Amino acid sequence: SSVGNAVPSVSIKVNSPNVRYSDSAIESDYYYDKTIVSLDRDGSYTAKPTKVHYQFRTKTNIGKVGLMLVGWGGNNGTTITASVLANKHHITWNTRKGVQEPNYYGSVMLSSTVKLGVDENGDGVFIPFKDLVPIANPNDVVFGGWDISGMKLGDAMNRAQVFPYDFQRQVYDQMQEYQPLPSIYYPDFIAANQGERADNVLSGTKQEHLEKIRKDIRDFKSSNGLDKVIVLWTANTERFSSIIEGVNDTADNLLKSISESHDEVSPSTIFAVASILEGSPFINGSPQNTLVPGVIELAESKRCFIGGDDFKTGQTKIKSVLTEFLVNAGIKPVAITSYNHLGNNDGYNLSAPAQFRSKEISKSSVVDDMVDANHILYKKGEHPDHTIVIKYVPSVGDSKRALDEYVSEIFMGGLNTISIYNTCEDSLLASPLILDLFMVADLMTRVEFRTVSNESSDINNEKWEPFHSVLSILSYMLKAPVVPPNAPVVNALAKQRAAMENIMRAFIGLPPSNDMMLEHSAY
Ligand code: NAD
Repeated sequence: SSVGNAVPSVSIKVNSPNVRYSDSAIESDYYYDKTIVSLDRDGSYTAKPTKVHYQFRTKTNIGKVGLMLVGWGGNNGTTITASVLANKHHITWNTRKGVQEPNYYGSVMLSSTVKLGVDENGDGVFIPFKDLVPIANPNDVVFGGWDISGMKLGDAMNRAQVFPYDFQRQVYDQMQEYQPLPSIYYPDFIAANQGERADNVLSGTKQEHLEKIRKDIRDFKSSNGLDKVIVLWTANTERFSSIIEGVNDTADNLLKSISESHDEVSPSTIFAVASILEGSPFINGSPQNTLVPGVIELAESKRCFIGGDDFKTGQTKIKSVLTEFLVNAGIKPVAITSYNHLGNNDGYNLSAPAQFRSKEISKSSVVDDMVDANHILYKKGEHPDHTIVIKYVPSVGDSKRALDEYVSEIFMGGLNTISIYNTCEDSLLASPLILDLFMVADLMTRVEFRTVSNESSDINNEKWEPFHSVLSILSYMLKAPVVPPNAPVVNALAKQRAAMENIMRAFIGLPPSNDMMLEHSAY
């Protein structure tokens, strides 16, 4: 399927005995290479390559998919909705430089390429990332959602002040046809200053809220004839919820706490629970700990997908690239100091201490895996100083500024200081990620795998299963990736992208991408 003018499409077919195509699915045999390392008594390591045989089955029929945004009337919600309309209907607009075409820049699925392989001359053949496996076309997605502000989307888009006037003017009428559903508002969880816009809120108990949100999802699905709905939180950053034994630590306790309207259950957690109970994948684009242990357990027991936390857009994305580069170059970052200022409603909300604290937490773990992996530069438990400041400066609006200083220790006691100044419209960075999260989450609902439980059994007798409920494959798009219990978190951006690409390659029976180029150097 073509994604309109902005994104070309190619179709690919894998020619291999390990890949089978049927009318409804692609099935692959895949041999996963793993090196098992053991520490010997003499202190040396033994590394033993092993192979695990997987089969993957990817349904190719995508069906009709809906995306419900919590916080639909906010900057991200209106920006992504208007952008998809523009791409779908090929709306162009005049700027002082001339005519601007719509596009999907900033979406890794839609606007980046992967190397499928090499041609007969050994030259790379690159295809759009989205064409590796069948991916939902964003132009066909049905949008819906909730907001505590009842403003229709045309007015809400103008309120956001992200797009230039000539663009707003042209999509206004179509946007104005959308109105967010009333939402759950517990003032204790977001900044007090948000009370000014909260005119579209549900009354009643937490149990009634849960049931109403579930009904909203069902109604949206049936009235639009959808096969599937994905729910994504792009509403305000909430404060963290305390994890309390007996309250939100298990699925049963959480459901009980909702029925008792317990104070510590946040709106976002109710949305997550509602989505899971409706079998709709839920993704958290904000930093707070929506996915409390009770939510994760519920998702596991219902085999429903969840993902989070917090879109990884500007400063953190660079941090997860630059720190990896420095540490992998054998250079030792000793201080990372990050200042942000922004003037949109997100910044207004983050100007309250408890909400800032959520953001500070999600931003601060991003270099841990790289630091922990290098015991030459860092002793056990040693970390670079890492400071995060966010200030609300109304006049800069959505144009967020990020100032970063990296101080690193180099050869023989020298010091290197890198200073970065980053500015762009915040919502234009985050919105394409909403599509990537949506597209990859939808893909995962169509994938099953099986593997042999013991060496002697036949893989064809095994049961097909979905992936683990916690979608770590979404990590590339997320600042503080939530991963399956006991799994390590990977923050390094290049690794996250490679994992996403190579997992999708496995679905079509292709080996992981590599850049060894042996055909050029060892022929
Ligand atoms: P925004 O304030 O413009 O939009 C949030 C919307 O959520 C508002 O319209 C608000 O009325 C609504 N809302 C608040 N509580 C709600 C509830 N309980 N139910 C339904 N609606 C509710 O913010 P934004 O710029 O669109 O950002 C959204 C979220 O994404 C924030 O948490 C932000 O921290 C996060 N985020 C943004 C970026 C980025 O680059 N823009 C990056 C990472 C994370």
